[in-house]
Amino acid sequence: TYVISQPCVDLKDRACVDECPVDCIYEGKRMLYIHPDECVDCGACEPVCPVEAIFYEDDVPEESKSYYEANVHFFDDL
Ligand code: SF4
Repeated sequence: TYVISQPCVDLKDRACVDECPVDCIYEGKRMLYIHPDECVDCGACEPVCPVEAIFYEDDVPEESKSYYEANVHFFDDL
């Protein structure tokens, strides 16, 4: 799955939402989240993010690892 990280917080540009072919990017209160079970790893969202907040799960920078969990757990409550 791809993961959205800190630069998205309080920005929510939404360019990625328009690119995603399976509509698996959802809006939270302060940022957008990618549904890990729905993402098909196409990578289309990553280059269109104006603040480079999106990473493939294996490429998430060390300081942003917590965002992987945040993207997963956002969907626990839905
Ligand atoms: Fe959607 Fe593809 Fe990005 Fe996954 S990698 S969130 S399927 S655009």
